Amino acid sequence: KVLQLISKRLRDIIREEDTLARLSGDEFTLIMEELQHPEDASLLADKLLNTLAEAIVIDEHKLYVSGSIGISFYPQDAVDAQSLLKYADTAMYKAKEEGRNNYQFYAEEMTAFALNRMAMKTNLRQAIDAEEFVIHYQPQINASTNALVGVEALVRWAHPTMDFLMPDEFIPLAEETGMIVEIDQWMMRTAMKQVSQWYKEGLNPGVLGLNISVKQLDKIDFIQKVETCLKRYDFDPKWLELEITEGQMIKKSEEVITKLHQINNLGIGISIDDFGTGYSSLSLLKRLPINRLKIDRSFIEDIPDDEEDAGIVKAIIALSKSLKLDLIAEGVETSEQRDFLISHGCINIQGHYYTPPIAAEEMRTMLLNHK
Ligand code: C2E
Ligand code: CA
Ligand code: CA
Repeated sequence: KVLQLISKRLRDIIREEDTLARLSGDEFTLIMEELQHPEDASLLADKLLNTLAEAIVIDEHKLYVSGSIGISFYPQDAVDAQSLLKYADTAMYKAKEEGRNNYQFYAEEMTAFALNRMAMKTNLRQAIDAEEFVIHYQPQINASTNALVGVEALVRWAHPTMDFLMPDEFIPLAEETGMIVEIDQWMMRTAMKQVSQWYKEGLNPGVLGLNISVKQLDKIDFIQKVETCLKRYDFDPKWLELEITEGQMIKKSEEVITKLHQINNLGIGISIDDFGTGYSSLSLLKRLPINRLKIDRSFIEDIPDDEEDAGIVKAIIALSKSLKLDLIAEGVETSEQRDFLISHGCINIQGHYYTPPIAAEEMRTMLLNHK
């Protein structure tokens, strides 16, 4: 009776496409198909353990059982059913050793990885609700006049107990889970409010560069959201430039093109970020309503010594000229890199050579000094 009751509980939790079987005695096997992320297995394992932990009432007896779960992955751990079962079994014994009511992955690093990702997801969700983000601004400089022409807004995560987190540590997860949309919207509101404030103070931050995920463009109300911000913050559209990476732009070019035209019609600039890494075709470039290319940092790093990179940078400069597009180089750290760029006709520069991304207060001080 206990086994029957447990089977029923397990069956109630799993999805239509999963397979549940009782292999022997008190051992069950569950096959999860179409698993998106390893931590989805953790989530299910938690649910299974919780349902097992509930009291079982049979006649006048109240019983408690516990479970141990082992998890193996196809194809990472094994590609045949027999080995997958064997490895899940091994993992289950590991779980038993750890004390009952727990689960283990066959590959130990998977356990740590999945737990970490689950914790990060929860933290990120909370961070969005509690607005734990901070914007740093990086100046963009016209190297021939030394004038500030714009600022790029870059997100940082100021978690109350963890160290300050840089985008590389959470943007990929945010992209994958779709949470990037909310982060980018927060960035848009906050940065536009800030920059418009600076303009009101008589300062001149130039054009605000905002990084926009394609996931964000996909939202039907995206244009409306932008328009609302423009109105609310009294923001001149020509102060705004949206940066979309080349890789993201070409992946969904057809859908994106229409949206970009709408943005462009509002008078907002569009630049292709990380240009040179995404293999876009010249015919696509011609059709995109863009006004700027941002030469990716990886090409700047080794100029002028690396002949190949120097050649690529010169080619991008020539390309921008013939397509009549603005150009900016990012990640410029040395005077040699700067001089090379200027001498070949790339005047706008962003990089540590001038200033790294800085907090809003520091940015304001810089603007005051530039007045
Ligand atoms: P990105 O858009 O290419 O931004 C430029 C990155 O280069 C920034 O890194 C910046 O700090 C760094 N950088 C600037 N100058 C130099 C330099 O001279 N040397 C070196 N080594 N690095 C330099 P960061 O802030 O870590 O951002 C990384 C990426 O995260 C960004 O790359 C962007 O793709 C993404 N990201 C940042 N903020 C946002 C955001 O609000 N929304 C979205 N969707 N993505 C964002
Ligand atoms: Ca960018
Ligand atoms: Ca970039």
